[in-house]
Amino acid sequence: MISTTAQEATITTAQETTSQQPDSQPAGPAGKVVLVTGASSGIGEAIARRLADEGCHVVLAARRSERIAAIADEIRSRGRSAQGRQLDVTDRVDVQAAVDAVADEHGRLDVLVNNAGVMPLSRLDALLTEQWDRMIDVNVRGLLHGIAAALPHFQAQGSGHFVTIASIGAHQVSPTAAVYCATKYAAWAITEGLRLESGPGVRVTTVTPGVVESELASTITDPGAQEAMRTYRAEAIHADAIARAVSFALAQPADVDVNELVVRPVRQR
Ligand code: NDP
Repeated sequence: MISTTAQEATITTAQETTSQQPDSQPAGPAGKVVLVTGASSGIGEAIARRLADEGCHVVLAARRSERIAAIADEIRSRGRSAQGRQLDVTDRVDVQAAVDAVADEHGRLDVLVNNAGVMPLSRLDALLTEQWDRMIDVNVRGLLHGIAAALPHFQAQGSGHFVTIASIGAHQVSPTAAVYCATKYAAWAITEGLRLESGPGVRVTTVTPGVVESELASTITDPGAQEAMRTYRAEAIHADAIARAVSFALAQPADVDVNELVVRPVRQR
């Protein structure tokens, strides 16, 4: 693990770089303290791995603590800086405690990646109402819990970066995806509101993936939606494509706010 002192020195240098300086290079994500929700698989895992490789200290959070611990161990075994934290984003108190713990331990939290999400698709007339609730709880309330926990820290620091992993489903609706898309439209709207309301120094990025390799479809129980997904997901791209987009947003100088990146397979129309 890198020492807190070394980390703080790097963070200060990074944040003082702005695009006003003609010769300045992008600040780069190195040295930032980053909390990634839903980091036990798929996109969150890829983001955590990439940012750790680029010199961030990464806190991986999700419910499956053994997977989180194994990924964090593997990252550390390569000389990078990472730790795991069991977290259920539907529990507001748990999210607050996780964010506060990172800020206490490292003196700051630079980036919160609100990535955790579920997608148990089905037609509305299947009436899988518990699954509707689950999507709202994780994809919307989980996001809000992250914002509520981190915003006071970012305001006190005068800096911070929120990254929301939304979806193409934030811009278009398809059959079986009404509730999922509703949660992603909500995630987009909440994140845009956050951008408009946040004071100077706080950056806000929505990353909008198309179809990406992950475990996301594994929560689908409806047979019709499962079948449709098999065809739809055949052209999925690797989750590192989304991690590269997050890295790009983080790497910009402090006065540059990358607000939305849409990343999908070339073949996806
Ligand atoms: P995965 O299923 O691989 O990852 C989802 C992650 O969310 C897991 O780490 C899971 O961890 C975590 N998670 C689920 N529920 C909770 C919870 N209550 N508390 C904490 N963590 C939770 O799918 P993806 O990587 O694809 O999904 C990541 C994000 O990307 C989601 O928001 C998804 O909507 C979005 N997205 C994905 C696309 C794709 O094609 N893959 C396309 C567009 C958007 P655990 O079960 O251990 O808690």
